[in-house]
Amino acid sequence: MSQHFLLSSAARTISLRAVLSLTDADAWKLFQRIRWPATDGMPVCAKCGYDRCYDVTRGATPRFRCSACRKDFSPTSGTLFAYHKLSIRDYLAAIVLFVNAVKGISALQLGRDLDISFKAAWVLCHKLREAMTLEMKGASVGGAGKTVEVDGMYTGGHIRPANHKEDRIDRRLAANQNGKRKVVVAIRERGGRTVTAVFPSEDASTDFIKARVAKGTVVHTDEATTWDSLRARFKMRQVNHSVAYSHDDACTNLAESFFSRLRRAEWGQHHCISDAYLNRYAAEMGWREDHRRQPNGTLFNRVGALVGQSAMSVDFTGRWQRKAA
Ligand SMILES: [Zn+2]
Repeated sequence: MSQHFLLSSAARTISLRAVLSLTDADAWKLFQRIRWPATDGMPVCAKCGYDRCYDVTRGATPRFRCSACRKDFSPTSGTLFAYHKLSIRDYLAAIVLFVNAVKGISALQLGRDLDISFKAAWVLCHKLREAMTLEMKGASVGGAGKTVEVDGMYTGGHIRPANHKEDRIDRRLAANQNGKRKVVVAIRERGGRTVTAVFPSEDASTDFIKARVAKGTVVHTDEATTWDSLRARFKMRQVNHSVAYSHDDACTNLAESFFSRLRRAEWGQHHCISDAYLNRYAAEMGWREDHRRQPNGTLFNRVGALVGQSAMSVDFTGRWQRKAA
């Protein structure tokens, strides 16, 4: 039997050791190369996109001046790492740790690895998640001759049972729930990409599915009545999970394997994912699932390039300073 790709040396093309042994200047050069891949690291103006810039570096951080619009900028200007406080080497190390963690990494763990505060690590993880999300923002899947699998995974809203049996409530009743229970719906194209979104119930997700799956796609689901409304638009194949995981050529195992990655992240890493951020964690796990067979150096470059393409984070840049103010 041939060796699994991830066990081979070809799957390891970058390491924490390699990044941490970079000098400041080499770390900046590496970041520039992944941020500006088209020019092999030569600066491109963050404001007007012109690619002829002077080097006006005075301190440790490179600075450039655009010869067209005269604006000064650094390699992180206008990116997710704008207004950074750590060294660029630490950010590169964070990307390595983040892409290597196939089931995700908790902010506490990343904070310990990099010796930074929990808050700094939490914001950094969310920025990297934001970068990953950019790749599938607004994208659709499927099309003629293509097959997608659709399924939902309920999570959150746990209500702790009271200690004494006589004090316990019926947690199945809507009146006794806390409204935090949500469903992650995954649309996964066979041989393609994964699109995720979060809804209060599977019923609420069908318009989203219709918007994100191209006409002419064959859609596989389980036999929940929720999916009946998709029949008018797609060729459906439905599997009765009480009979088999895959039956009569209908199968949702790809969607299920995405859910097991998300469950492992929830139970094994984060322990509790707030419903406010669930969509971000789901998108992160979709990205990891889609790129699971790529060398870690490729993932590192991909996330670095996405950091460069992302605008400054509205939700996470200066988050704690804003809260304190
Ligand atoms: Zn310019």
